[in-house]
Amino acid sequence: MIQLTIDGRPIQVEPGTTVLEAARRLGIRIPTLCYLKEINQIGACRMCVVEVKGYRTLQTACSLPCADGMEVRTNTPAVRAARRMVLELLLSDHQVDCPTCLRAGDCELMRLAQETGLRSVRFTGEKHPARVDTSSPALAVDSSKCILCQRCVAVCREVQGVAAISLAGRGFASRVVPFFDHELGEAACTYCGQCTLVCPTGALTEKDDTEAVWAALLDPEKHVIVQTAPAIRVSLGEAFGLPPGTVATGQMVAALRRLGFDRVFDTNLGADLTIVEEASELIQRLRSGGPLPLMTSCCPGWVKYAEHFWPEFLDNLSSCKSPHQMFGAMAKTYYAQKMGIDPAKIVVVSIMPCTAKKFEASRPELAGSGYPDVDYVLTTRELARMLRQAGIDLAALPEEEFDAPLGISTGAGALFGATGGVMEAALRTASTWLEGEPRRLVFTEVRGLEGVREASLTIAGQELKVAVAHGLRNAARLLERIRSGEATYHFVEVMACPGGCVGGGGQPLPADGPDSLPALRQARVQAIYRVDEAKAIRYSHENPAIKQLYAEFLGEPLGEVPHRLLHTHYHARQPVGIRVR
Ligand code: SF4
Ligand code: SF4
Ligand code: SF4
Repeated sequence: MIQLTIDGRPIQVEPGTTVLEAARRLGIRIPTLCYLKEINQIGACRMCVVEVKGYRTLQTACSLPCADGMEVRTNTPAVRAARRMVLELLLSDHQVDCPTCLRAGDCELMRLAQETGLRSVRFTGEKHPARVDTSSPALAVDSSKCILCQRCVAVCREVQGVAAISLAGRGFASRVVPFFDHELGEAACTYCGQCTLVCPTGALTEKDDTEAVWAALLDPEKHVIVQTAPAIRVSLGEAFGLPPGTVATGQMVAALRRLGFDRVFDTNLGADLTIVEEASELIQRLRSGGPLPLMTSCCPGWVKYAEHFWPEFLDNLSSCKSPHQMFGAMAKTYYAQKMGIDPAKIVVVSIMPCTAKKFEASRPELAGSGYPDVDYVLTTRELARMLRQAGIDLAALPEEEFDAPLGISTGAGALFGATGGVMEAALRTASTWLEGEPRRLVFTEVRGLEGVREASLTIAGQELKVAVAHGLRNAARLLERIRSGEATYHFVEVMACPGGCVGGGGQPLPADGPDSLPALRQARVQAIYRVDEAKAIRYSHENPAIKQLYAEFLGEPLGEVPHRLLHTHYHARQPVGIRVR
């Protein structure tokens, strides 16, 4: 162990521990802008400078390993002056339009300027020209707000293994751009939005669709339906000061009614529908010999990643649409017929934890009814902004129920919000159908937060080998093993975001900075399991609304109507970029 003192307080740490981590263990907060634990420790922003006895210059705490006998000072006049200087230099080249910036109130740069007591910026001069990239349906990039911290680059490369963006140019000409300086809409970006969760400023954000939804809500000709993904109810509360892991389903429904939606339905019903179709597909493929493994396809980030980098596996992807797309297709057909509403007048808004769903909703093949399944996708963050604009305090609302019948769902549907959840929900139904009776509810083998999890199950006397991966770099490791023949499976779940959708790129930003994301994901996953446990019905195929849907409209799973409305196809895309191994 290494012994040192920080601000006069002794501490023992393991070799390799940085001064920043050691200080955090003592409860000493050293400000950072570029640091991401184990992912981006490059000392680029220089906010974390400290004085170390014996060193002639200030040192960056994030990249300095602790040494025996080291004496560190984190709060001296020289340190404070240096940090202010860093902020002044950053702000001198920054589009300072804070009141109208999407990140107002959530901006780490602004927070640090306040905390360091910065009152004016001494430097003026040339600024980087603004380059606003709105070429993708999911994300917006504003280079005039980029501080070149490279967190986005590191997350994209190290966590997602995509490397869709990188640092280009040198010196003052340095900038973060998609590969080969393409626009983001042309790049091999999966639109997972993980980069938006770590960007400290308004340089990388979700594309804001709130104005279009306000316009639809105000249009008396439109019947506006909203559906909410499983992961929203366990995260929306964070944006209103509720503790992470709070389940706010009833308040969320009440808030959406107050916004003016005509019907408030539940994507969890769409998840139940996906499970009925996907479990049928799994059984069909097991009986007919493939193609196996069946791979889940409800994550559009993973689907786009496969289209760019793993086209050889596209036939393995389930043809099932994702839950919110299935729900949208039902809203524009079954629901429209039942209610006698012209589907052209129905607007479906999906509230998703996900930026990639904005892209998914725009895919032309997802319009089997003749109308787009989903008209607008709002992230959790956008919904929170709309609620604040309307003066609605989620935390103060009484609980309300979803509208029936498309608001009825099961515990299995709720599981979609967490990594391993689609697998577990599908196994509940598939094992029941294969064994002829419900035997098993919980599949702990596929739960947890390890990047790749494998299990061998015995169902109806047969071995079923399954695997779960979350985070695309973990998925790549799994796919390499499948491709080489080192591993064989019958069923594989992949979710692009760490933790699954609870960790989606559209979720509320972590109040304590991006290093608190793992703890947030953990709290949200536990909340998902509580939602499941509290449900009276926990098998998707037992959902009475799903049974009614098949009896009145869909016919049989995998039948002609489901094939037209609930299934889709995929196509290889140009791999403009590199995949990190
Ligand atoms: S959205 Fe995902 S894939 Fe695209 S740049 Fe960001 S982290 Fe990379
Ligand atoms: S876009 Fe954001 S995360 Fe990426 S380098 Fe710029 S400021 Fe940092
Ligand atoms: S894991 Fe969920 S939130 Fe992330 S890209 Fe996939 S569907 Fe979207």
